[in-house]
Amino acid sequence: MSPFEKAERIVIKVGTSSLTYDTGMVNLRQIEKLCKIISDIKNSGRQIVLVTSGAIAVGASKMGLNHKPHTIPEKQAAAAVGQCELMYIYDKHFLEYHHKVAQILLTRDIIESDERRTHAVNTMETILAQGVIPVVNENDSIAVDEIRFGDNDTLSAIVAGLVRADGLILLSDIDGLFDSNPHDNPNAKLISRVGKIDGYIESVAGGAGTDRGTGGMATKIAAAKICFDSGCAMAIINSSHLEGLYDLLEGRETGTIFEKE
Ligand code: GLU
Repeated sequence: MSPFEKAERIVIKVGTSSLTYDTGMVNLRQIEKLCKIISDIKNSGRQIVLVTSGAIAVGASKMGLNHKPHTIPEKQAAAAVGQCELMYIYDKHFLEYHHKVAQILLTRDIIESDERRTHAVNTMETILAQGVIPVVNENDSIAVDEIRFGDNDTLSAIVAGLVRADGLILLSDIDGLFDSNPHDNPNAKLISRVGKIDGYIESVAGGAGTDRGTGGMATKIAAAKICFDSGCAMAIINSSHLEGLYDLLEGRETGTIFEKE
Protein backbone atom coordinates (compact mmCIF):
# COMPACT_ATOMS: atom_id res chain seq x y z
CA MET A 1 0.00 0.00 0.00
CA SER A 2 1.29 3.48 -0.87
CA PRO A 3 1.95 5.66 2.20
CA PHE A 4 -0.12 8.35 0.48
CA GLU A 5 -3.33 6.30 0.47
CA LYS A 6 -3.56 6.49 4.23
CA ALA A 7 -1.96 9.93 4.63
CA GLU A 8 -4.20 12.23 6.64
CA ARG A 9 -2.04 15.35 6.75
CA ILE A 10 -0.29 16.26 3.52
CA VAL A 11 2.04 19.11 2.54
CA ILE A 12 1.84 19.99 -1.16
CA LYS A 13 4.63 22.10 -2.64
CA VAL A 14 4.24 23.85 -5.96
CA GLY A 15 7.18 25.52 -7.68
CA THR A 16 7.54 28.72 -9.66
CA SER A 17 7.86 26.95 -13.00
CA SER A 18 4.55 25.16 -12.35
CA LEU A 19 2.71 28.36 -11.44
CA THR A 20 3.97 30.81 -14.03
CA TYR A 21 4.54 31.02 -17.77
CA ASP A 22 7.93 31.78 -19.31
CA THR A 23 6.81 35.43 -19.27
CA GLY A 24 6.83 35.25 -15.47
CA MET A 25 3.09 35.92 -15.43
CA VAL A 26 0.73 33.71 -13.46
CA ASN A 27 -0.59 30.59 -15.15
CA LEU A 28 -4.18 31.18 -14.08
CA ARG A 29 -5.51 27.96 -15.55
CA GLN A 30 -2.98 25.98 -13.54
CA ILE A 31 -3.60 27.79 -10.23
CA GLU A 32 -7.34 27.53 -10.63
CA LYS A 33 -7.12 23.78 -11.21
CA LEU A 34 -4.72 23.34 -8.29
CA CYS A 35 -7.08 25.19 -5.93
CA LYS A 36 -10.04 23.08 -7.09
CA ILE A 37 -8.22 19.77 -6.64
CA ILE A 38 -6.79 20.74 -3.23
CA SER A 39 -10.27 21.86 -2.13
CA ASP A 40 -11.68 18.51 -3.26
CA ILE A 41 -8.96 16.56 -1.45
CA LYS A 42 -9.70 18.60 1.64
CA ASN A 43 -13.42 17.89 1.29
CA SER A 44 -12.57 14.19 1.35
CA GLY A 45 -11.30 14.65 4.91
CA ARG A 46 -7.56 15.12 4.54
CA GLN A 47 -5.65 18.12 5.91
CA ILE A 48 -3.55 20.12 3.47
CA VAL A 49 -0.70 22.59 3.90
CA LEU A 50 0.26 24.33 0.64
CA VAL A 51 3.83 25.53 0.19
CA THR A 52 3.98 27.89 -2.74
CA SER A 53 6.81 29.51 -4.65
CA GLY A 54 6.35 32.14 -7.32
CA ALA A 55 6.47 35.35 -5.30
CA ILE A 56 9.63 36.68 -6.90
CA ALA A 57 8.71 35.73 -10.49
CA VAL A 58 5.14 37.03 -10.21
CA GLY A 59 6.31 40.25 -8.52
CA ALA A 60 9.00 40.86 -11.13
CA SER A 61 6.52 40.53 -13.97
CA LYS A 62 3.96 42.67 -12.16
CA MET A 63 6.59 45.38 -11.63
CA GLY A 64 7.41 45.23 -15.34
CA LEU A 65 11.01 44.07 -14.85
CA ASN A 66 12.14 42.52 -18.10
CA HIS A 67 14.82 40.40 -16.41
CA LYS A 68 15.04 37.99 -13.49
CA PRO A 69 15.79 40.19 -10.41
CA HIS A 70 19.47 39.89 -9.49
CA THR A 71 20.21 42.16 -6.54
CA ILE A 72 18.91 41.32 -3.09
CA PRO A 73 16.79 44.51 -2.78
CA GLU A 74 15.31 43.83 -6.22
CA LYS A 75 14.42 40.24 -5.28
CA GLN A 76 13.00 41.35 -1.93
CA ALA A 77 10.89 44.06 -3.53
CA ALA A 78 9.63 41.65 -6.21
CA ALA A 79 8.75 39.08 -3.54
CA ALA A 80 6.77 41.68 -1.58
CA VAL A 81 4.74 42.58 -4.65
CA GLY A 82 4.37 39.01 -5.89
CA GLN A 83 3.47 37.45 -2.54
CA CYS A 84 0.36 39.57 -2.14
CA GLU A 85 -0.65 38.96 -5.75
CA LEU A 86 -0.27 35.21 -5.17
CA MET A 87 -2.30 35.29 -1.96
CA TYR A 88 -4.99 37.32 -3.67
CA ILE A 89 -5.30 34.65 -6.36
CA TYR A 90 -5.25 31.74 -3.88
CA ASP A 91 -7.77 33.43 -1.62
CA LYS A 92 -10.11 34.10 -4.52
CA HIS A 93 -10.00 30.57 -5.95
CA PHE A 94 -10.16 28.71 -2.64
CA LEU A 95 -13.09 30.87 -1.55
CA GLU A 96 -14.95 29.75 -4.66
CA TYR A 97 -14.82 26.23 -3.19
CA HIS A 98 -15.62 27.52 0.34
CA HIS A 99 -12.14 27.13 1.75
CA LYS A 100 -10.19 29.72 3.69
CA VAL A 101 -6.46 30.34 3.45
CA ALA A 102 -3.89 31.75 5.88
CA GLN A 103 -0.55 33.18 4.84
CA ILE A 104 2.51 31.86 6.70
CA LEU A 105 5.90 33.34 5.81
CA LEU A 106 8.87 31.64 7.42
CA THR A 107 12.61 32.19 7.79
CA ARG A 108 15.21 29.63 8.75
CA ASP A 109 15.51 30.89 12.32
CA ILE A 110 12.41 28.84 13.16
CA ILE A 111 14.69 25.82 13.03
CA GLU A 112 17.36 27.21 15.32
CA SER A 113 15.17 28.99 17.85
CA ASP A 114 13.02 26.70 19.99
CA GLU A 115 10.75 29.58 20.88
CA ARG A 116 10.14 30.68 17.29
CA ARG A 117 9.65 27.10 16.18
CA THR A 118 7.08 26.49 18.89
CA HIS A 119 5.19 29.63 17.86
CA ALA A 120 5.24 28.65 14.19
CA VAL A 121 4.03 25.13 14.98
CA ASN A 122 1.29 26.36 17.32
CA THR A 123 0.07 28.82 14.70
CA MET A 124 -0.03 26.22 11.94
CA GLU A 125 -1.72 23.66 14.21
CA THR A 126 -4.38 26.19 15.19
CA ILE A 127 -4.99 27.14 11.56
CA LEU A 128 -5.33 23.46 10.61
CA ALA A 129 -7.63 22.75 13.54
CA GLN A 130 -9.90 25.55 12.29
CA GLY A 131 -10.10 23.88 8.88
CA VAL A 132 -8.12 26.66 7.19
CA ILE A 133 -5.42 25.93 4.59
CA PRO A 134 -2.00 27.32 5.58
CA VAL A 135 -0.26 28.74 2.48
CA VAL A 136 3.44 28.86 3.25
CA ASN A 137 6.37 30.56 1.54
CA GLU A 138 9.76 31.79 2.60
CA ASN A 139 9.65 35.36 3.88
CA ASP A 140 11.75 36.46 0.92
CA SER A 141 11.32 40.18 1.55
CA ILE A 142 13.28 40.08 4.79
CA ALA A 143 15.33 36.91 4.36
CA VAL A 144 19.08 37.47 4.13
CA ASP A 145 21.60 34.65 3.67
CA GLU A 146 21.93 33.74 7.36
CA ILE A 147 18.21 33.08 7.77
CA ARG A 148 17.26 31.85 4.28
CA PHE A 149 16.04 28.40 3.40
CA GLY A 150 17.04 29.25 -0.17
CA ASP A 151 14.60 26.95 -1.90
CA ASN A 152 11.11 25.78 -1.25
CA ASP A 153 11.89 22.06 -1.62
CA THR A 154 13.87 22.35 1.62
CA LEU A 155 11.29 24.65 3.21
CA SER A 156 8.45 22.25 2.42
CA ALA A 157 10.31 19.28 3.91
CA ILE A 158 10.98 21.26 7.08
CA VAL A 159 7.34 22.33 7.27
CA ALA A 160 6.27 18.69 6.78
CA GLY A 161 8.43 17.77 9.78
CA LEU A 162 7.14 20.65 11.92
CA VAL A 163 3.47 19.74 11.40
CA ARG A 164 4.24 15.99 11.54
CA ALA A 165 2.73 15.48 8.09
CA ASP A 166 2.27 11.95 6.79
CA GLY A 167 3.35 12.93 3.30
CA LEU A 168 4.99 15.67 1.26
CA ILE A 169 4.13 15.99 -2.44
CA LEU A 170 6.48 18.02 -4.64
CA LEU A 171 4.70 19.19 -7.80
CA SER A 172 7.43 19.54 -10.35
CA ASP A 173 7.94 20.19 -14.06
CA ILE A 174 9.26 16.64 -14.42
CA ASP A 175 7.54 13.23 -13.93
CA GLY A 176 9.78 12.22 -11.04
CA LEU A 177 13.33 10.96 -10.50
CA PHE A 178 14.90 9.32 -13.57
CA ASP A 179 17.91 7.02 -13.80
CA SER A 180 19.53 9.57 -16.13
CA ASN A 181 18.64 13.04 -17.38
CA PRO A 182 15.49 12.64 -19.56
CA HIS A 183 16.28 15.92 -21.35
CA ASP A 184 19.48 14.36 -22.74
CA ASN A 185 18.59 10.68 -22.80
CA PRO A 186 15.33 9.54 -24.43
CA ASN A 187 15.78 6.10 -22.82
CA ALA A 188 15.90 7.48 -19.29
CA LYS A 189 13.67 5.45 -16.97
CA LEU A 190 11.50 6.77 -14.17
CA ILE A 191 12.40 5.40 -10.74
CA SER A 192 9.03 4.75 -9.12
CA ARG A 193 10.16 3.92 -5.56
CA VAL A 194 13.08 5.04 -3.43
CA GLY A 195 13.62 3.44 -0.02
CA LYS A 196 16.98 4.92 0.87
CA ILE A 197 19.10 7.84 -0.30
CA ASP A 198 22.41 6.28 -1.28
CA GLY A 199 25.25 7.28 -3.60
CA TYR A 200 23.34 5.98 -6.63
CA ILE A 201 20.27 8.15 -5.93
CA GLU A 202 22.49 11.19 -5.25
CA SER A 203 24.35 10.60 -8.49
CA VAL A 204 21.26 10.36 -10.70
CA ALA A 205 19.75 13.45 -9.08
CA GLY A 206 22.10 15.84 -10.92
CA GLY A 207 21.52 19.53 -10.37
CA ALA A 208 19.72 21.67 -12.94
CA GLY A 209 16.46 23.52 -12.41
CA THR A 210 14.65 25.89 -14.74
CA ASP A 211 15.42 29.56 -15.14
CA ARG A 212 12.45 30.69 -13.07
CA GLY A 213 12.58 28.20 -10.19
CA THR A 214 15.46 27.59 -7.83
CA GLY A 215 15.23 23.89 -7.08
CA GLY A 216 16.44 21.02 -9.26
CA MET A 217 16.46 17.31 -8.46
CA ALA A 218 19.32 17.77 -5.97
CA THR A 219 17.19 19.94 -3.64
CA LYS A 220 14.40 17.36 -3.93
CA ILE A 221 16.72 14.60 -2.77
CA ALA A 222 17.84 16.85 0.12
CA ALA A 223 14.14 17.29 0.94
CA ALA A 224 13.64 13.50 0.87
CA LYS A 225 16.44 13.11 3.44
CA ILE A 226 14.75 15.61 5.76
CA CYS A 227 11.45 13.74 5.30
CA PHE A 228 13.06 10.37 6.06
CA ASP A 229 14.47 11.83 9.28
CA SER A 230 11.03 12.97 10.38
CA GLY A 231 9.22 9.78 9.30
CA CYS A 232 7.32 11.43 6.47
CA ALA A 233 6.86 9.94 2.98
CA MET A 234 7.61 12.09 -0.06
CA ALA A 235 6.57 12.04 -3.70
CA ILE A 236 7.56 13.92 -6.84
CA ILE A 237 4.84 14.15 -9.46
CA ASN A 238 4.38 16.24 -12.60
CA SER A 239 2.39 19.44 -12.15
CA SER A 240 1.37 19.40 -15.82
CA HIS A 241 -1.07 16.61 -14.85
CA LEU A 242 -2.54 17.79 -11.55
CA GLU A 243 -5.02 14.88 -11.50
CA GLY A 244 -1.89 12.89 -10.64
CA LEU A 245 -2.61 14.08 -7.08
CA TYR A 246 -5.69 11.84 -7.09
CA ASP A 247 -3.68 8.96 -8.58
CA LEU A 248 -1.10 9.28 -5.82
CA LEU A 249 -3.65 9.52 -3.00
CA GLU A 250 -5.74 6.66 -4.38
CA GLY A 251 -2.77 4.33 -4.75
CA ARG A 252 -2.28 4.37 -8.51
CA GLU A 253 1.21 4.35 -9.92
CA THR A 254 2.55 7.86 -10.58
CA GLY A 255 5.79 9.80 -10.16
CA THR A 256 8.44 8.77 -7.66
CA ILE A 257 7.51 7.79 -4.11
CA PHE A 258 10.16 8.06 -1.38
CA GLU A 259 9.40 5.87 1.62
CA LYS A 260 12.13 4.94 4.09
CA GLU A 261 12.85 1.19 4.09
N1 GLU B 1 10.47 31.66 -2.22
C1 GLU B 1 10.71 31.88 -3.62
C2 GLU B 1 9.52 32.61 -4.27
O1 GLU B 1 8.41 32.50 -3.80
C3 GLU B 1 10.91 30.63 -4.41
C4 GLU B 1 11.89 29.63 -3.92
C5 GLU B 1 11.83 28.34 -4.74
O2 GLU B 1 11.22 28.33 -5.82
O3 GLU B 1 12.38 27.31 -4.33
O4 GLU B 1 9.66 33.26 -5.25
